[in-house]
Amino acid sequence: MAVVTDQLHRPLTDLRISVTDRCNFRCVYCMPKEIFGPSFTFLPRQQLLTFEEIERLVRIFQTLGVRKIRLTGGEPLLRQGLETLVERLAAIPGIEDLAMTTNGSLLTLDRARRLKAAGLRRLTISLDSLDERTFRAVNEVNFPVSRVLDAISHAEAAGLTPVKINMVVKRGTNDKDILAMAHRFRFTGHILRFIEFMDVGTTNGWRLDEVIPARQIISLINAAWPLESVPPDRPGDVARRYRYRDGGGEIGVISSVTEPFCRHCSRARLSPEGQLYLCLFAPDGYDLRRLLREGFSDQEIREAILRQWRGRRVRYSEERLQLTESRPKVEMFRIGG
Ligand code: SAM
Ligand code: SF4
Ligand code: SF4
Repeated sequence: MAVVTDQLHRPLTDLRISVTDRCNFRCVYCMPKEIFGPSFTFLPRQQLLTFEEIERLVRIFQTLGVRKIRLTGGEPLLRQGLETLVERLAAIPGIEDLAMTTNGSLLTLDRARRLKAAGLRRLTISLDSLDERTFRAVNEVNFPVSRVLDAISHAEAAGLTPVKINMVVKRGTNDKDILAMAHRFRFTGHILRFIEFMDVGTTNGWRLDEVIPARQIISLINAAWPLESVPPDRPGDVARRYRYRDGGGEIGVISSVTEPFCRHCSRARLSPEGQLYLCLFAPDGYDLRRLLREGFSDQEIREAILRQWRGRRVRYSEERLQLTESRPKVEMFRIGG
């Protein structure tokens, strides 16, 4: 199969599928409560892609080179019957990796086992602090740390390993918790990843001075527990990997602001209502749902995606610091990070 590449010679290998725009958290850096209050309206059900439609698209994307799928949201575990979707996607030949990112709030042991049985391979669980007050202030719904730690144990017990843990680091909010988080997950087999606070969407009040550069995070941890770098798993991996020299395991940093990695970005994103986004910071998407619902053939849909990817030249993070005016951007909870 010929490799499909964009204008910057980047292949299409990864697809992130946001299965819902709803979330039961209101994280300050993603869906701040004052904007996403009780009167905010989410997408009605009939606008969401059905599982059949998602499966059909994934089969088409697979023929274009996609090997890795990540389910996300909003909070993906809020989508009813998600295990059925996992089962359908896991059965598609050529899909080598099927993972999910979740806030963990709804991950019981039983649910983790059902997801594993359905064919999910790995889980990433978001946790921004071990400090109760800080975490509750970040999620803005008073959700306790202990229940996310339980979710991490459930993922491990179900064999959804290695469990990755995402910590978005925001200066003045949870940067004081970096070492405690590193310490907590050393020697557990879990991979903690520190993510630079990003200017996704238009509502999170992002400021560059609230970003803690990844290299600063690494030097802080390295001073406590010496680290060495580890080569990337695969080309296109966004996290830079390190391991503790004393055998304490692995960590990662995602330095999208201070050391962007657009030139290796091989990801497409699908929103819950079937819009194809070519970048996390794109202003709008390309409407695949219309093609699905207006009777276009698989071949026609494939051609449409191919045209979109071939024309792709976005590299927002590499241009961010030179931009003189703010641009319209999709919100993170719509396309899932
Ligand atoms: N609700 C799920 C969760 O929180 O894991 C999945 C969707 S969430 C949008 C995916 C990831 O994006 C999470 O790890 C979250 O912490 C991260 N994220 C959200 N807003 C961010 C921001 N402004 N900067 C960096 N990462 C962000
Ligand atoms: Fe919800 Fe995840 Fe966004 Fe937090 S980061 S508000 S859990 S979608
Ligand atoms: Fe990819 Fe856009 Fe992020 Fe660059 S800014 S790495 S092109 S999603």
